[in-house]
Amino acid sequence: MDGGLKMRTIALAGNPNSGKTTVFNKLTGSSQRVGNWPGVTIDRKEGRIKGVEDTVLVDLPGIYSLSPYSPEEIVSRDYIVNEKPDLILNVVDASNLERNLYLTVQLLEMGTPVVMILNMMDLAAAKGISISAANLGRMLGCTVVETTASKGTGIDDVKKALATASKVEPIPQRFEPSVEDAIAKAEEGIRSDLRPELRRWAAIKVIERDEKASEYVREGFDAEPIIKALEDEYDDSSESIITDQRYNSICDTVSGCLNAPVDRNRETFSDKVDRYVTNKWLGLPIFVAVMYGVYYLAVQTIGTMGTDWVNDVFFGEWVLPAARDWLANAGVNEALSGFVVEGLIGGVGAVLGFLPQMLVMFLLLAILEEIGYMSRIAFVMDRIFRRFGLSGKSFIPVMVGMGCGVPGVMASRTIESDRDRRITAMTTTFIPCSAKLPIIALIAGALFGGSAAIALSSYLIGILCILMSGIILKKWKSFVGEPSPFIMELPPYHLPSVMNMVMSVLQRGWAFVKKAGTFILVACALVWVLSSFNWSLEMVDADASMLASIGNAIGFIFAPLGFGDWQFTVATVTGLLAKENVVGTLGVLFGFAEVSEAGEEFWTLLAGMITPLAGFSFLLFNLICAPCFAAIGAMHRELGTWKATAFGVGYQCLLAYAVSVIVYQFGLVALYGTVEPVGIIMAVIALAALVFLLIAKDPFGTIKSKVEAVTA
Ligand code: GDP
Ligand code: MG
Repeated sequence: MDGGLKMRTIALAGNPNSGKTTVFNKLTGSSQRVGNWPGVTIDRKEGRIKGVEDTVLVDLPGIYSLSPYSPEEIVSRDYIVNEKPDLILNVVDASNLERNLYLTVQLLEMGTPVVMILNMMDLAAAKGISISAANLGRMLGCTVVETTASKGTGIDDVKKALATASKVEPIPQRFEPSVEDAIAKAEEGIRSDLRPELRRWAAIKVIERDEKASEYVREGFDAEPIIKALEDEYDDSSESIITDQRYNSICDTVSGCLNAPVDRNRETFSDKVDRYVTNKWLGLPIFVAVMYGVYYLAVQTIGTMGTDWVNDVFFGEWVLPAARDWLANAGVNEALSGFVVEGLIGGVGAVLGFLPQMLVMFLLLAILEEIGYMSRIAFVMDRIFRRFGLSGKSFIPVMVGMGCGVPGVMASRTIESDRDRRITAMTTTFIPCSAKLPIIALIAGALFGGSAAIALSSYLIGILCILMSGIILKKWKSFVGEPSPFIMELPPYHLPSVMNMVMSVLQRGWAFVKKAGTFILVACALVWVLSSFNWSLEMVDADASMLASIGNAIGFIFAPLGFGDWQFTVATVTGLLAKENVVGTLGVLFGFAEVSEAGEEFWTLLAGMITPLAGFSFLLFNLICAPCFAAIGAMHRELGTWKATAFGVGYQCLLAYAVSVIVYQFGLVALYGTVEPVGIIMAVIALAALVFLLIAKDPFGTIKSKVEAVTA
């Protein structure tokens, strides 16, 4: 143990839901560090393995395969190629062996020694699957360890295996002779500076026409004739030839190491539950009921108690009086103390007040994800999405988007069909992200007595907008085509792991606090300055400020939606920087700081400014219109051009405007019998346009079927 110590790096790889996080937590305990992979917002976790000297365990994002379809897969693959970990620890769900091995064989192909963790042994046993770990290891060329990570069984064996594993040579799969032939020919074109153990892998990638494989090919080499010849022989695309070859070889391997035939017809507990949960008629009502439960707890009951406490006690009794005392004692002048109290504390406080509600929601969503219910929702939604010309795959980005729109939009990259991917990238942010939750909770709390129904309706309207957009956008020429098929396997239900959930909630909660303390803080400071001075830089009442004059100048745009007052206009605009700013801005402008200390909510002031109907319209507009700049940036990355991005953002804003004006103006008539002449005309036009776009005949449907007829 002296001199020249080099840290050994071990990369943890596996399919989503195979138990990677559980294994990572068990191996590293509390020594974890979380960062980001370069250029993407995917978590990068690292930690030291307890009891194994001088090793770092790096958690790669969950992946199904190493083809670059999703950012997760690109990240994982680049890491293995460029950073050359000493060992790959591959977590495999033993109850779904074939599917999981698809990744394993590709990892082995990359020449790095692999230790395979056959996890979920308890579930495999329950399914009647018995695997010979020794055979599996001999056939693949890796060390195999059996675990039930959630109970901690086998974790010590993993640590023992890590000590000896690097001596086992990976055995790459062998394919049929003509495929092997093509691979050998392609290998001749691989750049000589690529590590020798990667050559076969790179050659296979070239044959698959992998987008990024050209990096590995030496200049002047053309693999196309080799690929064409192979495709002609098999009458199939090279990518599916390789996929078939892999699965054939995996089937051979699996049948060589199963000790008993698997009874695939046995109905498991999960199957029984799924008969109801994914039922054609019950699936959707159950989903709506579950989501109502989530918002009932987060927005209406438990979460609200926490939020009241933060507002009344934490800010009202502790932070604000302390800040005022301190400022008074320090002899700070009035402007500066106003800046600190009303601007900084007022703005950030209004946002942070919603942290408890957010934490409750994060926790509930984490539970739903952990037990496996989220995959069922995707399954149920697939059936519905398909009717509207969208792929069920589009719902995965939507679920990710409930956390944050940026990874949500990025997740649309997992959709192979260009058309679906672009429609999804433009519509994913209609689902309220967690930064929009404070807006929902504020409007629900201030104007609707904290009703969970308001929150639920926000989400359902988000989904409705996505479905309507599926129908509408198809009518544009660039989106012609059929939704791509979506095959998904439902993982068995699991008991949630408390540690996984606590960690995920803390990490997301902390990210929110950090953002509030930095970005939102600066934005609120700016709002305070602009709302405290006029154009000659004299300190004035907010109504005479620069910000008021800006807001008043553009407020007419929003007047037909019921919220033309300058404060709401300004809040909507600052929301483009980050949606938390909507509440932060209202906090500054309606004096969160002043009223909180008096033991009151600034909600009362807000409620005095706007009717519930107008508030709901304000909420709808802010939920549906252009997302924050970060998400617009992500849209641009996925759509490729600024023209397409502008189209997407323009579409979002127009749809938001149409929905809000319809709801507000018809609401006025229905609830108050009031008719605003200009407004109601706009609402009628908006409704007519929307209905027209929804029912108009698809102008490209006919062209498409002709194309099909020709190619058939
Ligand atoms: P990841 O997506 O690969 O990170 O998977 P997680 O570590 O989040 O695990 C998914 C779910 O499987 C969690 O609810 C875990 O508690 C559960 N889980 C993990 N390992 C096992 C196991 O060996 N047996 C069973 N029954 N459940 C497990
Ligand atoms: Mg995980």
